[in-house]
Amino acid sequence: MRIPVAASEYPRIGAELGGAPTSVLVKPAGPDCNLRCGYCFYRGKETLFPPGQHRMSGEVLRCLVEQHMPPSAPDVTFCWQGGEPTLMGLSFFEHVVALQTHYGRGHRVANALQTNATLLDKSWAAFLTKYNFLVGVSLDGDAQVHDANRRDGASHGTWSKVANSIKMLLDAGVATNVLAAVTEESARCAQETYGLFQELGLRHMQFIPIVDPDRGGLGGRSAHSVRPETYATFLCELFDRWVLDLGGPKQTSVRTFDALLACYLGLTPPECTMHATCGSYLVVEHDGAVYPCDFFVEPTWELGSITTSNLATLWRSPKRQVFGNLKADLPQACRECDWLSVCRGGCPKDRVLGETPRSNYLCDAYRALFCHAHERLTALATQHSAQRARLSTGLARGFSTRRIGRNDPCPCGSHSKYKKCCGR
Ligand code: SF4
Ligand code: SF4
Repeated sequence: MRIPVAASEYPRIGAELGGAPTSVLVKPAGPDCNLRCGYCFYRGKETLFPPGQHRMSGEVLRCLVEQHMPPSAPDVTFCWQGGEPTLMGLSFFEHVVALQTHYGRGHRVANALQTNATLLDKSWAAFLTKYNFLVGVSLDGDAQVHDANRRDGASHGTWSKVANSIKMLLDAGVATNVLAAVTEESARCAQETYGLFQELGLRHMQFIPIVDPDRGGLGGRSAHSVRPETYATFLCELFDRWVLDLGGPKQTSVRTFDALLACYLGLTPPECTMHATCGSYLVVEHDGAVYPCDFFVEPTWELGSITTSNLATLWRSPKRQVFGNLKADLPQACRECDWLSVCRGGCPKDRVLGETPRSNYLCDAYRALFCHAHERLTALATQHSAQRARLSTGLARGFSTRRIGRNDPCPCGSHSKYKKCCGR
């Protein structure tokens, strides 16, 4: 789910072209990271691999690129994530691009990089701009909020470094999103965080609630987990700010709300949590092992390896289908819920309460948001449909449409440049 992709540039999640995934989430440095964030769920995955450094070999990378770019799949997305993928060094990503060029047969290739941004410098920025990488930077809010959890090995906060990197990336013209973890503390600063991100020049935001049942053992109530009631207030406040900015110069994409609006428009939402089943991408670990979801990198759900099988075969594997269908096994409360068509029971990783099929820890927060947002989303969807109808009527009458330049504003009204937006 944690794919750092701007709302306007979502990969076609769930699309199956020739029975192969269109999107892979790759962990070239496995769970290795130069930071020690308090809530990290991936660091514990070290136990799955031999001790020492974890780095993707040249041969695994070659297999990956070759298998993910078959002639039958013209549009493919590589999401580079971790751990911290920049630990691989810039030369690894230069090799990535060279391989993509080598195996490309008219493919349109999108690269996205999710990073803590502490290792980036001007050479990185130049490379990311040149090859049009979409960069997701992890930043949780202001220095106090961010540094509470996101610290380096010497326990120093990282806010200043990250804020400087964001400025450097934006100055260099890199398409940059922000991904913020929401804890019990940070959830109390919805307005401030949204305003700060805007001040930093970030117009695409993704918020991920921390639900940590493993260490707490109390259904998501570890120290870092956000409480449902706090998350409810956070979502509602954030939604109000998002609506306020719609259509104006500060229009901002907040992935959760974009996804909700997509549901109201009858479109497939870009959030896998809002799909009826799981399975919109594959995860490829540094050693070539493949899993169906970032949150389920565990022996039970290992589908196989790209070194002994291939992505298309693993994509079609019965185990992946079993995994995908688990999401549709809902508790009674969900099956009777008025919001089921948009919520779909949320993410299975957050279903930690009660007996199997378990209930979603964040259910109360979701219900609060859906009630709060329903009228405005309905109105927005109606307005949007009317605009589309007017546009298609205009086109049907033969109104001339000037060719849009790469640097013109996107016709979708996002105020982003056409070349960096959806072009709709
Ligand atoms: S478990 Fe399903 S809904 Fe949750 S992140 Fe994974 S694919 Fe998405
Ligand atoms: S709001 Fe709650 S009960 Fe309704 S579908 Fe979502 S998780 Fe289930």
